[in-house]
Amino acid sequence: MRNIFLCLGCTLLLLPLGGALSTAALAQHNDLKVGVAAVAITPYGPNPEWDGPITPSGVWGESFTDSNHNGRWDQGEPFQDDPANSAIDTSSANKYDGIYLAGFGRNRMATGKLDDLWARALVLESGKDKIAIVALDLIGYYSRANYYGSAEVQKLIDPALGVTEILIASTHNHEGPDTIGPWGPNVTTDGKYPKYLQFVDHQIARAISLAAKSVQPARMKLGQTNPVMSDSIAGMQTRTHGRPPDFYDQEMRVMQFTGTGGPAKDKVIATLINWNTHPESLESENTLISSDFPGEVRRKVEERFGGTAVYVSGDIGAVEIVGDSNNKPTERVTFDGKTFPLSAGTNRPTYMFERTQAIGRDVAKAAIVALEHAQWSTVTGIDLRKAPMTAVMDNAAYLILANLGVLDTMPLPAKGQPPMMTTTVYAIKIGDAQIITAPGELFPEVFYGVEKYRRRDCSQADTGRPPEVAVRELMTAKFKFVFGLCPDEFGYMVPGYDFLRPVGDPAKGEFAEAHDPCKSAGVTDHYHETNSASSQLAPAWSCVAATLLSGKTPSAKACQNLP
Ligand SMILES: [Zn+2]
Repeated sequence: MRNIFLCLGCTLLLLPLGGALSTAALAQHNDLKVGVAAVAITPYGPNPEWDGPITPSGVWGESFTDSNHNGRWDQGEPFQDDPANSAIDTSSANKYDGIYLAGFGRNRMATGKLDDLWARALVLESGKDKIAIVALDLIGYYSRANYYGSAEVQKLIDPALGVTEILIASTHNHEGPDTIGPWGPNVTTDGKYPKYLQFVDHQIARAISLAAKSVQPARMKLGQTNPVMSDSIAGMQTRTHGRPPDFYDQEMRVMQFTGTGGPAKDKVIATLINWNTHPESLESENTLISSDFPGEVRRKVEERFGGTAVYVSGDIGAVEIVGDSNNKPTERVTFDGKTFPLSAGTNRPTYMFERTQAIGRDVAKAAIVALEHAQWSTVTGIDLRKAPMTAVMDNAAYLILANLGVLDTMPLPAKGQPPMMTTTVYAIKIGDAQIITAPGELFPEVFYGVEKYRRRDCSQADTGRPPEVAVRELMTAKFKFVFGLCPDEFGYMVPGYDFLRPVGDPAKGEFAEAHDPCKSAGVTDHYHETNSASSQLAPAWSCVAATLLSGKTPSAKACQNLP
């Protein structure tokens, strides 16, 4: 706010001199410096920053005897327990620590690499504010996990760099290492590799530091597109197993920063792409590390404009990339001019890197369209607001996993208290761009408002919980960005009216997806609730976000009786 008032003062001073503001005067007013850096976090091959063991496949992990010669460690194969891991997390003693790929079934160990994973940091400086926005090619990251996360990253950054705020988002990549815990060899064993997570913290800090040191005067361009304007992204988004409603955030948003002086004058420094679907086009059988389609999106955008591209996932809850679980013979099969046919029996394509890259090129084409139609936006300060958000962790299966130390990203309850999760919601205004963050996989209908965009296929399915506040309607800037999985990944953020708790036996630790009341009409089971830390995520987020955006506590029913 401070900067906005300052600038209003400047405008008034200028008016008597020259009447209406000329473009040149506006340009003088622009107060923005931008720096960017990309640092690899691929757990593969030699890296001067990695002093841990590398297995013969090139993938990082404790040394082992590959008795069955399949290129990965299997249960029962002898291994050398690296004391560095148990020094970080005592539960790592006598456990094989290596790279389990996250996002699908357990025990999917990496056996090689297709392309690199990155920590990409964009630093924006205006007035006294210098904020870092970081995107990671990971399934999720945390502000305060047991021994890693943003709080640790913060300690590694030189205060002299003057970074005032750090926002870390994950793309939710399903072909990278387990950074959460549940994808280990079995249900009771943590899939995380402690030494690797400390390496990631260091690399994030390096990326932020490099970006903060490299800031240069710049101006900002903003754009957006959708499948109507850019048919290269038409038919790319689907809902998990067709879960209703058939609703998506179809908008792609872009920011681009061009130098205005010094060595970067008139050169693109950085481009940020914000789009909304799960990066999981390589699916569950792949064992090669990859950033999935965002890697190719970045590569093509950089090839076209220069500079460094940063890909940030938005509201991706229940939204998959085409070809995943909602398989129909009618779905899109041609990407970047090449057809990848579906198998007749399963209606699934053959998942291959070539298809993933073609998808990435078509997504990049839309980003390029958005940038070609983009408009310059004067920056006169960064208005950053943040507020804590809390929710009761009421997912019984998560609680069991937290007690086992598998989910040590989740807090354990104090005696007699319900376990509470805390995170932060950010609302940032910079020029004509507004950014809201969400600590998980936000259902798009929660962002746009469930009163308008709710399912209407099954009246019995309504739980009676009140609708969340329509957050996007409270965003007043022309360009409305949403950064998902930032600064935490607490799983799916499911609207209350459609939230059906998993059913099961906590004593046995067995839980199943709840059946939809309209299952007989073909509606899928409620999968997302099994991967949601709390039934309060969506209402709590909408209320905190609405308060930040409107400046007052919403009177909505959904905002009463929250923790
Ligand atoms: Zn997901």
